[in-house]
Amino acid sequence: MTALEAPRALAALDLLPAEWEQAMAELGQPAYRARQVFHALHVEGARAWEAVTTLPRTLRVELAARFPLAAPTVGARAVSVDGTVKYLLALPDGREIETVHIPDGDRVTVCVSSQAGCALACAFCATGRLGLQRNLTAGEIVEQVYVARHDDPAPNVVFMGMGEPLANYAAVVRALRLLMAPEGLHLSPRRITVSTSGLPDRIRRLAREGLGVRLAVSLHAADDATRSALMPINDRYPLRAVLEAAAEYAQLTGRRVSYEYVMLAGVNDRPQDAARLARLLPRRDAHVNLIPYNPTDAEFRGSPPETIRAFARVLAEHGVPCSVRRSRGRDVEAACGQLAGARRGAVAAVS
Ligand code: SAH
Ligand code: SF4
Repeated sequence: MTALEAPRALAALDLLPAEWEQAMAELGQPAYRARQVFHALHVEGARAWEAVTTLPRTLRVELAARFPLAAPTVGARAVSVDGTVKYLLALPDGREIETVHIPDGDRVTVCVSSQAGCALACAFCATGRLGLQRNLTAGEIVEQVYVARHDDPAPNVVFMGMGEPLANYAAVVRALRLLMAPEGLHLSPRRITVSTSGLPDRIRRLAREGLGVRLAVSLHAADDATRSALMPINDRYPLRAVLEAAAEYAQLTGRRVSYEYVMLAGVNDRPQDAARLARLLPRRDAHVNLIPYNPTDAEFRGSPPETIRAFARVLAEHGVPCSVRRSRGRDVEAACGQLAGARRGAVAAVS
């Protein structure tokens, strides 16, 4: 266990329903108090114990002493012409993360960060340039959903913001359980997608948690040399190891895994790359998301639309379902891979 993963005291927003029950029993309170507290924190959004007036005053005082209610606060937000809203959230220790609200018809998708920064340094990703600042707590992860879901009682949640979710495994799994808890938002696992750069052992472990969330694996290349040039983690976990773990995830959970592939001109976008990718994947059991490259500071260019279409055609000819992801929130640097906290300075102050 690294220092970054060292266990820390759980704060109020981290506790699962069963842990609240135990805490209430220790305080000599009836079990229904646990449900009241969880609902107040995770559905009603109470962020000060004195505001939870359904609880007796003495209990509120006791809870305030035992369970700190520090949560990220909105530092700034920027609204895209397409309705996407990028939030810059300030963590209690002053670090900053980004969260994105993406409207899609009558549904909302919230894109959450799992770490401040990221250690994995993918060449095309703005977050990767920050290095890892720290892991987020489960409470800091779910709070992003509560801030950015607006009025949607059951948003889709994608772990595609800053950070590598499976490198912050314990907090991410806890956050998934909080989001799925019947006492809280009670999100269906089908609404939740965890995106990973491909950590095989963690993928296998997640498959055994019994959560049933969707898994997206970032491939971005169909051969190891290209993938290693884009994603240094590939030197440690090459394509084959990642794909085997993904296949196991699909088999154990019964969920089709999706594969992300950012389209970079002259790097990974030739028809033979598509053919090779198709041969790697389990045909009908896979789904490829082609992602138009969102400009960051790196020296890449996105593939032209006709190249992306041709790539998609080759996949289709090989029987691999695929779609081209629509880029959202680019004008406020809220699109995939553009999140980097205050460093980029693109968010306006809250009005
Ligand atoms: N760390 C995880 C999840 C966060 S990144 C992962 O890498 O999967 C979410 C997705 O955005 C990944 O597929 C990532 O490769 C992609 N991405 C990163 N930078 C991008 C960029 N500049 N343009 C388009 N997609 C990008
Ligand atoms: Fe980290 Fe994902 Fe960005 Fe790679 S693409 S640096 S894994 S956040």
